[in-house]
Amino acid sequence: MADSTVYDESDADLDALTGRTVAIIGYGNQGRAQAKNLRDAGVEDIVVGNRKDASWEEAQEDGFPVYETGEAVSIASVVFLLVPDEVAPAVYEEHIEPNLEAGDVLNFASGYNVTYEYITPPDDVDVVMVAPRMVGAMVRELYVDGRGAPAFLAVERDASGEALDVALAIAHGIGATRSGVIEGDFETETKLDLLTEQGLIPVIANALIAKWEVEREAGAPPEAILMEQYLSQELSHIFRKAATMGIVEQMPLHSMTSQYGQLAGIDEFDREPLREFMREKMGEIDDGSFATEWTLQQQAGYPKLKRLYKKYRGHEMIEAEQTTIDEFGLDELDEAGDADASDAAEADESTD
Ligand code: NDP
Repeated sequence: MADSTVYDESDADLDALTGRTVAIIGYGNQGRAQAKNLRDAGVEDIVVGNRKDASWEEAQEDGFPVYETGEAVSIASVVFLLVPDEVAPAVYEEHIEPNLEAGDVLNFASGYNVTYEYITPPDDVDVVMVAPRMVGAMVRELYVDGRGAPAFLAVERDASGEALDVALAIAHGIGATRSGVIEGDFETETKLDLLTEQGLIPVIANALIAKWEVEREAGAPPEAILMEQYLSQELSHIFRKAATMGIVEQMPLHSMTSQYGQLAGIDEFDREPLREFMREKMGEIDDGSFATEWTLQQQAGYPKLKRLYKKYRGHEMIEAEQTTIDEFGLDELDEAGDADASDAAEADESTD
């Protein structure tokens, strides 16, 4: 693996943002968290650009001046594009590009639209990315706690000669340098993110379903299978510990029987079919065929996404999961930061 540069607090300050107006376009998960962190860090001139709706009112209640998107861009020289990736190209074309000026900085929180050329900013604008690796609620929560969410940083275009300084100032302002900021490029950020979604998560979900199928065949009760698998939160606890101790080093937190079983199973497993699946997915990400398919799906009103939701919501394991969550009141054990997941579920309902 190629070495990458990792920046911390000693590499960054707010100087490159001094005297500049920052526009946060999109006051959602990331927008709200980043705007508040920047303000607390000492960035004085922050405006929010949004549609006139609940987010607009929330930004006003939080004490930010709020403008129509285009107007916010026109009065700012550092523009954060924090609307969902699916709508960003249309928002960019209609409201942002016409109001950008030479010397402005356009900051992304995801590499997707630049990588696949759905957004191509003008040559005289700096194009940077500071992409937190956590949901917005965590970006804010960690900051308030005196810590920060790690982030990827990239400079796609350095028209001014100062793009890296501005990107580092942004990373500092949102709290990311308190943790660590990995320098890379838009394409790498995009592809790592997509392969997690399209390769890793499907493998994990299919492993859960396969275990369910085998245990149901053997006559085990649905609630018991699901509680043992992940509803008890043991699995999420293991992943949380893996993130702070390491996947192998957290194993001694479990019984010797468990440690032996886990390590022996990992060692016996044939990963080649998984590698094949990952390579196939990586190929579709690399050659742009996934991006093309997804754009066509959006234009057609998400027919495949709706079909797949219907299929999996009707799967016996997923139905049993909902029954068990209700039966044991597990939804009350929800954790901070998970509001984003319920927001997404609501958003999905609205596409049905
Ligand atoms: P959200 O879904 O929370 O939405 C952000 C904002 O976009 C809201 O204020 C929303 O306002 C506005 N918006 C939605 N649709 C439109 C539209 N059609 N026209 C104008 N405004 C619209 O986005 P996120 O914060 O999740 O994502 C923002 C960026 O951050 C994305 O690039 C994403 O990839 C990136 N990111 C997200 C992470 C996450 O965990 N969520 C993590 C790291 C990066 P309204 O009230 O009008 O809907």
